[in-house]
Amino acid sequence: MTISEIGHYIGGTGTSGNRDREQEVFNPATGAVTGKVALATADEVGQAVAAAKAAFPAWADTPPIRRARIMNRFLNLLNEHKDDLARAITAEHGKVFTDARGEVERGIDIVEFACGIPQLLKGDFTDQVSTGIDNWTLRQPLGVCAGVTPFNFPVMVPMWMFPVAIAAGNTFVLKPSPTDPTPSLIYADLMKEAGFPDGVFNVVQGDKVAVDALLEHPDVQAVSFVGSTPIANYIYETGARHGKRVQALGGAKNHMLVMPDADLEKAVDALVGAAYGSAGERCMAISVATLVGDVGDKIVPMLAERARSLNIKNGLEMDAEMGPIVTGAAHQRITGYIEKGLTEGADLVVDGRGHTVEGHENGFWMGGSLFDNVTPDMTIYREEIFGPVLSCVRVADFAEGVDLINAHEFGNGVSLFTRDGNVAREFGRKIQVGMVGINVPIPVPMAWHGFGGWKKSLFGDMHAYGEEGVRFYTKQKSIMQRWPESISKGAEFAMPVSR
Ligand code: NAD
Repeated sequence: MTISEIGHYIGGTGTSGNRDREQEVFNPATGAVTGKVALATADEVGQAVAAAKAAFPAWADTPPIRRARIMNRFLNLLNEHKDDLARAITAEHGKVFTDARGEVERGIDIVEFACGIPQLLKGDFTDQVSTGIDNWTLRQPLGVCAGVTPFNFPVMVPMWMFPVAIAAGNTFVLKPSPTDPTPSLIYADLMKEAGFPDGVFNVVQGDKVAVDALLEHPDVQAVSFVGSTPIANYIYETGARHGKRVQALGGAKNHMLVMPDADLEKAVDALVGAAYGSAGERCMAISVATLVGDVGDKIVPMLAERARSLNIKNGLEMDAEMGPIVTGAAHQRITGYIEKGLTEGADLVVDGRGHTVEGHENGFWMGGSLFDNVTPDMTIYREEIFGPVLSCVRVADFAEGVDLINAHEFGNGVSLFTRDGNVAREFGRKIQVGMVGINVPIPVPMAWHGFGGWKKSLFGDMHAYGEEGVRFYTKQKSIMQRWPESISKGAEFAMPVSR
């Protein structure tokens, strides 16, 4: 089997890069090394930033509607290449093909949103703020923006960033996860084919060295980050110290509160899909089922049966429900959490360890695991496991469930299953979490609403994409004008007021 050499995309050209440092890329379903990705040096990051800086003035000056037309061509190309992108995701990430296609479609949604940039950039105008004086605001691009993204959505998460940034007139350097780098090069090619000028979109593959080079580079104006909380915190602090605008989205521990009046069959469907879909490697995965009153006794056996019968296989097989874990290291980390849960006294109702798939003996396989009687002091409750492990916590009533969720340090997503509108309304108002689903297990906001958690799930105050995304990638300018006929004679020394 050939091992591909995965490089960068700088100034409109793919380049294999200085390969002194490389990282192996795996097919998690087979365990085989399928590629080697270059890890950029600070110099190479400098080249990408220089290409983006050179492209910026002309791109920023291009009328928004012309930028939108190129974005529209990119949109069409993405739609044509949806399946190629999805296959590339499955090959390096392992998630099942249908899920990968869903990821691509949610990324495409943002590109579609970015096509509306002329409307989104429209400013405010006030005629006659004082006699003969008008005042208006406009939003202008920042310059070179950078994105640092996680392994779990190699298409969708970068598309939370660069389509909006670029449509707004910025140029962009993306540093994808080295775990699944290939999709970034596919859409870099499509950007070129769509007609984006060279240097508008660049990709540098790499690790901490490349990230630090971006964080310290004086020509990078803004950094968007999505990944784990410790790194998000580091990016936020380091970027701010270097005078950059930063939005850094972190990890999660998402609860689903199931009320006794909920349709329990549907709640079980929702929990199984949201906990084990994408092998639990979603920042919006549900990892804690918070079960009110007698709900636990009723649904834990139902969940156990479903967890045991998950159809786990190579994600390219169309009936697969769950694929492998992304890497051997992630597999070990998740196994370690399961062991910790047992030592700390939780009941392991379904043990996903030791799962094998015939014909794929070297893949990073794991079955779905289910813990019951998990308590808030346990490590498996407090920390993000990021794998197919669902913890059930029993609570007496709605208020205890809300208090439990609000006390958690993460606040990314949350879901409530109920039939009671008043309970749902109260939940939406009281819960200290950024994205809330009412009878919706994974409430990822649509392209024009913006994505972001609260507490340790987001550092910074601007959410990704939507109108907040446009705000993040632009700076507001206010212009006040008058013309000679309305300028009164004589110097004024008092604070000007409306006349
Ligand atoms: P990660 O934090 O390990 O890596 C994210 C990015 O940071 C990668 O590009 C990586 O190369 C880079 N990086 C890693 N270590 C670094 C370091 N020491 N210094 C500088 N850069 C570094 O995350 P991951 O394992 O790729 O992704 C999974 C995590 O991402 C989970 O915690 C998940 O919850 C989170 N996530 C959050 C969201 C969200 O919207 N809040 C969305 C997707 C994923």
